[in-house]
Amino acid sequence: MNDKIEVLITEEDVRTRIREMAAMLSEKYEGEEVLLIGILNGSVFFMTELAQQMSIPVEIDFMAASSYGAGTESSGNVLITKDLERSLDGKHVIIVEDIVDTGRTLHLLKDLIQMKSPLSVEVAVLLDKPSRRKVSCDADYVGFQIPDEFVVGWGLDYDQKYRDLTFIGIIKQD
Ligand code: 5GP
Repeated sequence: MNDKIEVLITEEDVRTRIREMAAMLSEKYEGEEVLLIGILNGSVFFMTELAQQMSIPVEIDFMAASSYGAGTESSGNVLITKDLERSLDGKHVIIVEDIVDTGRTLHLLKDLIQMKSPLSVEVAVLLDKPSRRKVSCDADYVGFQIPDEFVVGWGLDYDQKYRDLTFIGIIKQD
């Protein structure tokens, strides 16, 4: 681990904000059947903390998607590599994602989930980079809006590393 990582959001601030989001969701969905759908792999740390901090019972499921095409910039093509295991009948779905960047992944996944006719669909993201949006896709619950920087930690990786960092950091090249 030779990369220099600058702290953008501290562990305490991340945990406090997730608790606030969990409280909002618990109040809104009290008495309802809620299914959290995490988008692998990035959502797992945020999803775990969110679910544990919520004061109402929730079920969980996961989907995975990957961008494909030429170049480092996402080409706009998104492939579903893991689909849901169960029916969404009678469920209020909350899609849980690490970050919304261009918006392509969430836009597509939200459409796919809506086609399965759950009672409702909302989106909770830990981080949002609004300046990078290419496709209209607003999350209903946003932990933090951040500038256009490549961040790691809380599930976000750099070459599969740093997902387990407990703060949100920016990799500094020296
Ligand atoms: P979108 O379809 O919104 O462009 O892409 C979202 C996905 O891109 C995220 O789920 C995440 O995997 C990846 N991504 C976007 N920005 C960052 C970032 O700053 N750091 C990391 N590690 N991944 C990012």
